[in-house]
Amino acid sequence: MSSHSSLYNIVPGALEEGLEVFVVIFDRDWALWSQYPGLLARIHPIRIRRPKDSMAILRAFNAIEQELVIVPHGSFVRYLSGESLALLKHPIFGGVKILQYEADRNKNVGLLAAAGITTPRIFDNPDAVDCPVIVKLHGAEGGKGYFIAVNRDDLWEKGKGKQIDFIQEYISGVSIYAHYFSSPIRDRIELLGFDRRLESNANSQYLVSFEEPSFTVVGNIPIVVRESLVPEYYQMGQKFVEQTGLVGPFCIETICSSEPKIYAFEFSGRIVAGTSVWAPSGNAYTHLLWNEPMYMGKRIAREIKDAFTTNQLAKITVDSP
Ligand code: AMP
Repeated sequence: MSSHSSLYNIVPGALEEGLEVFVVIFDRDWALWSQYPGLLARIHPIRIRRPKDSMAILRAFNAIEQELVIVPHGSFVRYLSGESLALLKHPIFGGVKILQYEADRNKNVGLLAAAGITTPRIFDNPDAVDCPVIVKLHGAEGGKGYFIAVNRDDLWEKGKGKQIDFIQEYISGVSIYAHYFSSPIRDRIELLGFDRRLESNANSQYLVSFEEPSFTVVGNIPIVVRESLVPEYYQMGQKFVEQTGLVGPFCIETICSSEPKIYAFEFSGRIVAGTSVWAPSGNAYTHLLWNEPMYMGKRIAREIKDAFTTNQLAKITVDSP
């Protein structure tokens, strides 16, 4: 399905690995995809009018007759959720279940905590708040509309008239998004790199005093993390896979405090946009693992190719937790 991740990461990776590629492309994205006629000529584009027409998307996927594996990403989860996913006739890379953790913040952070990973505290009751908190709203996308409250009174004041979904301890530090790949075919977990998001005025040159920070995502930048943190991040990914059995790409979203201590506040059980920062050449971490240019889209394609050629497709399309 057309998205930033598929255009710049998943599709180039699949083509590099010699796979045949079908992409459902929304009309609104056609102008952008048309900027790359060389890429369009090598794929099977299937045009769809509106992203919100989930039935049309389902029909388009189900009409493809070849044996294929669907690679999910952020837009895919956004436009095909719940019941729609169950109606797809082709298997999904990494299964369906893990994608459903995106809709429920409590369940999402609960799974991280169940794996023994340090997470910020969650407050079900606003009156129980005894520290600075970040407040996430219903249906908010890309951090839009979140606010920070320094204490309980501030929370009641700022929350007036807002549909609050989730109140979480605010961790002061640097946000670091860690990207992993869990490979059933090679029986290993790969730490493939890190990025951080650039979030509008939360990361602006200067936050003026009358402004609330806004976490609306506007871009991503790659990071090489402090040496002592690398093993910790690696173990975090391992613990998470041990707990969940997750297959394929995933991202643990963290804040690293001044101690430094890592707090994981969310995960995505799929490729995320931040991995496009090192496509197509790779980074220091992928280079040591692969000794060739490797990035998330290509890594996914390599696993699919290996699973196909060794007749182990079921291993990569299995539902995790
Ligand atoms: P999310 O929508 O949960 O991915 O959060 C959007 C952004 O809000 C993150 O990229 C962080 O910059 C910030 N954020 C989320 N949760 C926390 C937290 N518990 N403490 C501090 N900052 C957070």
